[in-house]
Amino acid sequence: MPAYDLIVIGSGPGGYVCAIRAAQLGLKVAVVEKDTTFGGTCLNVGCIPSKALLHASELFEEAGHMFQRMGIGVGEPKLDLPAMMKFKDEGVDGNVKGVAFLFKKNKVEAFTGIGRIAAPGHVEVVSADGRRQTLDTKAIVVATGSDVARLPGIDIDEKRIVSSTGALTLDEVPQRLLVVGAGVIGLELGSVWRRLGAEVIVVEFLDRILPGIDAEVGRQFQRILQKQGVTFRLSSKVTAVDAAGKRLKATVEPAPGGAAETIEADVVLVAIGRVPYTQGLGLEAVGVATDNRGRIVVDPHFATNVAGIYAIGDVIAGPMLAHKAEDEGIAVAEILAGQAGHVNYDAIPNVVYTFPEVATVGKSEDELKAAGIAYNAGKFPFTANGRAKVNLTTDGFVKILADARTDRVLGVHIVGADAGNMIAEAAVAMEFGAAAEDIARTSHAHPTLTEAVKEAALAVGKRSIHM
Ligand SMILES: Cc1cc2nc3c(=O)[nH]c(=O)nc-3n(C[C@H](O)[C@H](O)[C@H](O)COP(=O)(O)OP(=O)(O)OC[C@H]3O[C@@H](n4cnc5c(N)ncnc54)[C@H](O)[C@@H]3O)c2cc1C
Repeated sequence: MPAYDLIVIGSGPGGYVCAIRAAQLGLKVAVVEKDTTFGGTCLNVGCIPSKALLHASELFEEAGHMFQRMGIGVGEPKLDLPAMMKFKDEGVDGNVKGVAFLFKKNKVEAFTGIGRIAAPGHVEVVSADGRRQTLDTKAIVVATGSDVARLPGIDIDEKRIVSSTGALTLDEVPQRLLVVGAGVIGLELGSVWRRLGAEVIVVEFLDRILPGIDAEVGRQFQRILQKQGVTFRLSSKVTAVDAAGKRLKATVEPAPGGAAETIEADVVLVAIGRVPYTQGLGLEAVGVATDNRGRIVVDPHFATNVAGIYAIGDVIAGPMLAHKAEDEGIAVAEILAGQAGHVNYDAIPNVVYTFPEVATVGKSEDELKAAGIAYNAGKFPFTANGRAKVNLTTDGFVKILADARTDRVLGVHIVGADAGNMIAEAAVAMEFGAAAEDIARTSHAHPTLTEAVKEAALAVGKRSIHM
């Protein structure tokens, strides 16, 4: 008899949630983690530290620009960057310790070391001191996540040429920060450093920011960020960074080709995306198939082509999001315990935690048009929402897209303060197959920003009240 029912490799949001859910269902579970702390990218160098800095820098900016308008006199706010970093680190520490506590509580055994699949049913753990041990198990779930995507010829030193990891630990505010990539991570971390005093220039290969997001949302969001002082160089690419001098010299070229120019910067943040991480796992030796982007191929039950080996989270296809990884972790644990685990990929929200926030769930207008689905759009701006007016947060709008025939909600897109919390209502509605009419007839507390969601639902039927 193998010692374990399940060994999870990787303790990020996919892995740790999977382990806990499997243990709840009575499985004997072990987790193998190569880092010294649990929680993966998300808790250590992703969601949690970035949100700590976004929150602190947002308050810093508010204290400097908004307090006086509301009659609060606190003088010019002063930045104590080491203290802000300590606040962030304490937040991370509390969260990663929380995972260790949950492992103990649920009797999940944790092993520190690099996990390698020696064969189906056998995981070898190599500790930092070189010690090796092999654990036997009925099933293996690979949850090894992702790593920073690199630009050829540009060496990340995490000091001046940084990935998101280095951008979370800068020890001074750069005079000028050049961000390569206008995706979620580039815009979030660019926002942090702009608020703290950096000039921020974002270079993006495509002709739009936030590729994949509803085009109207992207356009309006870009205008808002520009108003805040972020400069965009779209349809452009960074082809080299010269780090020889005191300041970095980035070579920027038009994407379709043409004359290059040099932009000087103190820090360059490479934020062009993330790639699945499978190093050291021994996938090839056991014959686990990967696709042309290095992602582990799984069936709808998260099973790979090798019996007894499953994969979830950033290491498989789909949006690289912590809650997507968690949902998959729960689903695969339930499947392994003989239940019917399932993830509804049509209702996974996506949030950009800038100010204002951008939050979307479901289909964009472009996707509906491309699929030939007839829809009605209802839109409501925060300028017409009473609470947004008194909060001085009138930037943005809510847009609801509903099937023209059935009125079923197909997509919800929000740009606005607190959009990340508001999108939960839309995700629940979509999970329940709600119509726009259902949202429109649901009582929303007054005065709240969520009334804009109700008004957008009313607008689908061309009957919003406050417009
Ligand atoms: C700066 C930044 C901000 C982000 N913000 C958000 C956000 O706000 N919201 C959101 O939803 N997502 C966010 N993400 C994405 C999110 O972090 C990932 O989608 C999520 O962490 C994926 O979870 P995972 O469990 O698949 O993998 P990871 O979290 O990457 O965890 C994988 C774990 O596996 C371990 N591992 C790898 N190989 C081995 C091995 N062979 N043996 C043992 N252990 C191994 C790694 O050390 C790691 O701990 C952010 C990412 C970054 C970089």
